[in-house]
Amino acid sequence: MNLPDSMHVLERGWLSSNNIVFTSKHRTAIVDTGYCTHENQTLILLRHVLKGRTLDAIYNTHLHSDHCGGNHILQTHFPAARTFVPAAEFNRVQNWERSQLTFEATGQRCERFRADASVHPGDKIILGDLEWSALCAPGHHPYSYLLFCEKHGILISADALWEKGFGVVFPALDGISGFRETRATLQMIEALDVRLVIPGHGKPFTEVKQAIEVAHSRIDYLEGDPLRNAQNGIKVLLKFLLMERQRIKLSEVPKLLNSIPLVKSANQRHMNFGKIHLAHWAITQLRRAGALDVQDNYLVDVEAKAG
Ligand SMILES: [Zn+2]
Repeated sequence: MNLPDSMHVLERGWLSSNNIVFTSKHRTAIVDTGYCTHENQTLILLRHVLKGRTLDAIYNTHLHSDHCGGNHILQTHFPAARTFVPAAEFNRVQNWERSQLTFEATGQRCERFRADASVHPGDKIILGDLEWSALCAPGHHPYSYLLFCEKHGILISADALWEKGFGVVFPALDGISGFRETRATLQMIEALDVRLVIPGHGKPFTEVKQAIEVAHSRIDYLEGDPLRNAQNGIKVLLKFLLMERQRIKLSEVPKLLNSIPLVKSANQRHMNFGKIHLAHWAITQLRRAGALDVQDNYLVDVEAKAG
């Protein structure tokens, strides 16, 4: 399925979210801006698509560090661009409440940026001369929204639906509800006439029904025993740090994992392993999955799916 001419998908690796760039005659915009360590690459890729034009707007489907980590550099290089964040997080961004945003809890980085305006669930947004509906999509993140263009049946699904699954149900790591919301979000997607999905990570896909089936069976599996979501969350958070740093000293892993509040609370709630035991378990699991290697007392990243 071809994309409308005004829409460009920049498919990134797993550390950075995909970026969707819109270039209509009157307005340019980007949806999701990747992770901060990739910010220069984001800028170069964006400039390539803009062909000398300026950027008018930045949208973030949700404020995870891998979706808004490029906001800072884009605001610096395109100072007139207006940044739209989910309404529920507008004040948190303005006051940069790190503990309320997710960066501290996940041990991830994000340069400070400003918010200029909000996106409310149900808003109609014009991007690339097309009308998009902002649809509330809690589960992976309580304030995430998706963008749906009814005319073309295109869904920008963020981390609520990937070709094979969806992002970690983070609220459940903290003992907050998340499975029910994830299921409701999948049901909402199912009720739309979606013909093409642009996921937050991975390539765009048209096998929508199949992806929804996979996602439903995954949420059944995770909800069947919340320990599974906790284990997955801990592995994903360690893998993320390894993707960011490429190498981590083996002896530093117990302390590192213990310094990540979400890992700590998921462990305490569901596993209750000691620091060293937890590190050993996570490393063994990721190594078995082919997501890392151990060389000369270092964890070394192996390019693989984040989980
Ligand atoms: Zn996310």
